Amino acid sequence: MDNEEFEFDTRAVRAGQHRSAFNENSEGLYLTSSFVHESAAMAAERFAERAPGNVYSRFTNPTVDAFGERLAALEGAEACVATASGMAAVLTCAMALLKSGDHVICSNAVFGSVITLFQKNLGRFGVETTFVAPADVAAWQAAVRPTTRMLFVETPSNPTMELSDIAALAQVARAAGALLVVDNCFCTPAIQRPIELGADIVIHSATKFLDGQGRVLGGAVLGRRELIMGEVYGFLRTAGPSMSAFNAWVVLKGMETLSIRMREQSRRALELARWLEGHPRIERVLCPALESHPQHALARRQQSASGEFLGGAVVSFDVKGGREAAWRVVDQCKVISVTANVGDTKSTITHPASTTHGRISAAARAAAGIGEGLLRVSVGLEAVADVKADLARGLG
Ligand SMILES: *Cc1c(COP(=O)(O)O)cnc(C)c1O
Repeated sequence: MDNEEFEFDTRAVRAGQHRSAFNENSEGLYLTSSFVHESAAMAAERFAERAPGNVYSRFTNPTVDAFGERLAALEGAEACVATASGMAAVLTCAMALLKSGDHVICSNAVFGSVITLFQKNLGRFGVETTFVAPADVAAWQAAVRPTTRMLFVETPSNPTMELSDIAALAQVARAAGALLVVDNCFCTPAIQRPIELGADIVIHSATKFLDGQGRVLGGAVLGRRELIMGEVYGFLRTAGPSMSAFNAWVVLKGMETLSIRMREQSRRALELARWLEGHPRIERVLCPALESHPQHALARRQQSASGEFLGGAVVSFDVKGGREAAWRVVDQCKVISVTANVGDTKSTITHPASTTHGRISAAARAAAGIGEGLLRVSVGLEAVADVKADLARGLG
């Protein structure tokens, strides 16, 4: 289908589907590690990438390609490379586009493993990373060096829901001759489309809202065709952090309900955030949809990709009384799942300081605003009254 012609919701259901000779209505699931060739000559042509066609599922697979095509149509990207997980997407992007001696500027409030990956793992290979506050554009500008090759940001940030101005950072990146990479996992293209705002690359953990029901791992790297199908795809086919066809199929089905889930989960998250704001045991609530959020105006500008402002489904809040009080809330939950995942139709709760961000230094946690009383809830599709009652029990 010609994507330009159709609305976002239609693309979410239809883009990327190429029916086989069996004329299936749902997307076909191609569980095969390799593909056969009509002749020795054709095999040679395909291995040399002179003829189109599938060779081996580490390189390409029809179900994985359908996933990539659909996500690219939603993000407004020319191309997509699908990966085994969100972290595999970050690694693939870094290994494909950076070399020893390069400098990266990264938000200090990104997913915990991303900090470890840049600092420790990539640091060993001579890639140096400076961590800066996500919202402070001047700090990003000041961190630029002649060797700066990449700016990496996640907005809203995890778990403190701080926003970065994508359009402003795109200008900093362009002036520095660097690439702006945006992890769009929390908003998804149903809410925010970084490429339209000037980003060069979008990263996804498909594990979260794209699947939407907490079933499988997946990831993606999206952007301009020559960048993605050149170095990024080249690294994937050589090194093999590829997405499985089964996972691609599951996420394809997940994307069909993306719009309505994001709209409904955002609405429920805002209702919960407003209730938490009025609770005497809560110190502060972090949710871009709240008028009290310091960057609410930016949120309205940046998170209205489909014409309607949506704040996203994640709400973080500080409980009075530190770790002990926060853990009491977690331990009293009967409905909300105690798990670090987000983006599920099942609401989840996590204590970042002792779980997702437990491996980074206390100083790094403090810099990122992750205190001992901080809790993060990813609001699912249960009745909001039951989710409130669950939290109310532990808050006392
Ligand atoms: C979960 C997550 C990742 C990593 O994705 P995995 O699929 O778990 O590897 C990256 N960024 C954000 C914002 C995430 O929430």
